[in-house]
Amino acid sequence: MLRLGEYTHVRGTTRRWRSHRESIALVPTMGFLHQGHLRLIEWARQQCARVVVSLFVNPTQFGPEEDLAAYPVDLERDAALLDQANVDLLYAPDVREMYAPTHSTWVVEEQVGCGLCGASRPDHFRGVATVVCKLLHRVEPDIAVFGEKDWQQLAVLRRMVRDLDFAVQIVGRPIVREMDGLALSSRNTYLTASERAQAPALYAGLVVMRDAVATGQQDAAVLQRKALDLLRKRMPLGVVEYVQIVDPESLQPLETVQGPALAVAAVRLGKARLIDNLRLR
Ligand code: AMP
Repeated sequence: MLRLGEYTHVRGTTRRWRSHRESIALVPTMGFLHQGHLRLIEWARQQCARVVVSLFVNPTQFGPEEDLAAYPVDLERDAALLDQANVDLLYAPDVREMYAPTHSTWVVEEQVGCGLCGASRPDHFRGVATVVCKLLHRVEPDIAVFGEKDWQQLAVLRRMVRDLDFAVQIVGRPIVREMDGLALSSRNTYLTASERAQAPALYAGLVVMRDAVATGQQDAAVLQRKALDLLRKRMPLGVVEYVQIVDPESLQPLETVQGPALAVAAVRLGKARLIDNLRLR
């Protein structure tokens, strides 16, 4: 596996691959890899001749009060996992390589990124869109692979690529969960034992909504109440940020569940902020 920190070298390498007609997949991550990341990489491996994984804890997507300084890092362990996964190139830039000291240009999506997580994390999706834009320019992949766990992120990036004419296909892949339903996340390491024991209630709350829809309940307010009741009982340590039913593409709230619908939720649990989502139909 090649390991590079400078984008001119990265682009030189991917352009050489392209001149040999090799297809290229990019999997962007913030590292501290788990099975959720590794499944994306495995899938990318099956699709393209070359797989690039970027590993960058992007400061511009963290708010001033957020966990940038505490975000878990283990570059050597990550590199060993990527090597085992047959990744061709690990691109792990440092912050100064990614952002010029006078960086002043941003990519701002103004619709799907505004509600839900965007409401409590005002500059988060601006940071995500900007860094992914830069990574796409640096790597020039044919496809870029993301997890559906961060559904809103995926929606923002699909808009960016469509609206700004990027020649890349954005691919979303299913959420990888623990046996008890908790979606894998690097941030799960923040949970204490008692918080970890309550964490699966987030997914259980979404499942309650899906089950109620399957038995005919269509009223979003009723469904939301069911999930909130469950969270109150089974996650007393949690603070609910939102539980909503939205249109999967526009992310606009729905009042009734008739067509495609996605249940989305975010809670603060100790030092962690957990998000999850589930298709209702
Ligand atoms: P992160 O390192 O948390 O920024 O995540 C990097 C990529 O992995 C993003 O596209 C995430 O959506 C994806 N990802 C993280 N956790 C999971 C999971 N449990 N299942 C599927 N994809 C995930």
